[in-house]
Amino acid sequence: MTKENHSKEITASEAENQCCSTETGSTTGIYKSGCMICGAPLIYYWKTKESSCYFCGKTLQANAGCPAGHFVCDLCHSADAIKIIKNVCLHSHKKDMVELMNTIRSHPLFKIHGPEHHSMVPAVILTALKNSGQQITNDDINTAIERGRGVCGGACAFLGACGAAIGAGIAVSIVLKADPYDGENRQVVQQATQRALARIASYKAPRCCQRDSWLALEEASAIMHEITGKSMPVKTFKCEQFPGNKGCIREQCPLWPGTRHSLKGGNQ
Ligand SMILES: [Zn+2]
Ligand SMILES: [Zn+2]
Repeated sequence: MTKENHSKEITASEAENQCCSTETGSTTGIYKSGCMICGAPLIYYWKTKESSCYFCGKTLQANAGCPAGHFVCDLCHSADAIKIIKNVCLHSHKKDMVELMNTIRSHPLFKIHGPEHHSMVPAVILTALKNSGQQITNDDINTAIERGRGVCGGACAFLGACGAAIGAGIAVSIVLKADPYDGENRQVVQQATQRALARIASYKAPRCCQRDSWLALEEASAIMHEITGKSMPVKTFKCEQFPGNKGCIREQCPLWPGTRHSLKGGNQ
């Protein structure tokens, strides 16, 4: 199928799904999960496969695609999402990390799953800190977003560290102005990622970017309190996205309506 044919397909889908316009006036499909183009569940490849991005045309070694052969690179996948994260985080006065996360994730162009969460987590942590009186600049938040973009989709299973956990490390790194020569802060930053990752890895479960981000934020709350003295409690909330998440672990999840609470330590 040619690219033009694909474009026609999107247009038809858009009409069907009452698509929204982006800030730039362009339109895209708004499937909240699965393939951005057709909504089909993604297939993850054990071995990477040379694929051409549907949007930018770049040929890359892909680790996921859809049964119809659609592939969208990480940068294109998260393009709208990054704008949404910046719009919320650079303008909001909220101090509540969960409210910030849920505001961002409620946008129709922000997907249920995807590497954009790797930018969202540190951006939300730093925004809440800034709004709580910590010396954090907009440049710091933009830096966090860019660093998060460096963590590929599927990092949890492919690299052995969920990008939400690395997001907690990114936020701590920026607060401490850590660098690889700085032995003390280098240790603290990696311990931050380790702690968030321990929370996420305590679940035997398919990835859920909402659950994993929430766990990372909860751990980041404790870590930031230790480092800065700022109190940023992370509340639970009732998951509303489970009908669109085939990998949902339902009552084993700390955000499952009705059972939230005692599952903070994992499901094993
Ligand atoms: Zn597709
Ligand atoms: Zn692309």
